[in-house]
Amino acid sequence: MKIVTIVGARPQFIKAAVVSRAFASHKDCEEVIVHTGQHFDENMSDVFFEEMAIPKPHYNLNINGLGHGAMTGQMLEGIEKILQAEQPDWVLVYGDTNSTLAGALAAKKLHIKLAHVEAGLRSFNMDMPEEINRILTDRISDILFCPTNQAVENLRHEGYENLHCRILKCGDVMQDAALFYASKSRMPQVAIPDKFILCTLHRAENTDDPKRLSNIVRALETLSETTKVVIPLHPRTKAKLENMNYDFEHSPILFISPVGYLEMVELLKNCLLVMTDSGGLQKEAYLFRKYCVTLRDETEWVELVANGYNILAGSDTKTILEDATNLLQRGKMEANDALYGSGDAGNFIVESLT
Ligand code: UDP
Repeated sequence: MKIVTIVGARPQFIKAAVVSRAFASHKDCEEVIVHTGQHFDENMSDVFFEEMAIPKPHYNLNINGLGHGAMTGQMLEGIEKILQAEQPDWVLVYGDTNSTLAGALAAKKLHIKLAHVEAGLRSFNMDMPEEINRILTDRISDILFCPTNQAVENLRHEGYENLHCRILKCGDVMQDAALFYASKSRMPQVAIPDKFILCTLHRAENTDDPKRLSNIVRALETLSETTKVVIPLHPRTKAKLENMNYDFEHSPILFISPVGYLEMVELLKNCLLVMTDSGGLQKEAYLFRKYCVTLRDETEWVELVANGYNILAGSDTKTILEDATNLLQRGKMEANDALYGSGDAGNFIVESLT
């Protein structure tokens, strides 16, 4: 059995680490990893392969820094050539990036079976590039690995039960990663205050809208005056803030470079609160039992909001401040549920493919 795994962006390296480990322990299973190059820096890519012991990609297409059309098109062309040479039984794609969509299209045009990890998620916001990528990928997948009941429900609602595909609820590979790497975490090599809020910001809807971005940053600055906000800064957000002539030097926010997953887990364990527009970090906040203020107007992870673990604050400065202050006052988060499974999603996925 040969599987070609397509990855390209940070969250996909973390998810693939889990499934690749399961592939490695499964006999008669050969995994060929293709890195599209979408994220390429040392701290957005290499560090994950090293720290998480992900096998070195067999191919790196080095495609990055382009608009959506050129990026997806060049990836499609590059992946198609690899699939023609490798002739795999399955192509495995993760999440909702341009690499996901390119991998999915390349596979199906060659009549190769396609499996999608993190299928069935919906934000119902068609302005998000991620929403387009995940809907199109779901539609042509042969196996849809759903992390949650809600994801299964979304697919049923769209009539997937009448399509020629398998919908499997497997839990979330991020739960597997959190459990496996929790004991291996370590602090970043920069001074982090004892009490801090952990924040990440990189969704296009925030970074590409100067008003939203400055409203959010204003709220984070105000919070930082009493509880330091620590931001491992995404390169896209850094570039946008630089364009706005943001005064990094005099900002009360502690900006640090993007960190590896092991450092991120340590920050998650030690922070008072998470504030983010990241999909993955919303779940990780819950997995490490921290409340989360989501800096978006909607989320795919609706079960977090329904259970009161996550508040959708959007980009309004006053709302963000009120929500963060309320959650800080609540203190330690108690949760006895397991919304994202028990940490065996990786094995389940591999068993289902082989
Ligand atoms: N992450 C990381 N280092 C950072 C910021 C994020 O390792 O400096 C991890 C984070 O813990 C999560 C994943 O990257 O596992 C989330 O990726 P991102 O926010 O880029 O994408 P999204 O989940 O929104 O698709």
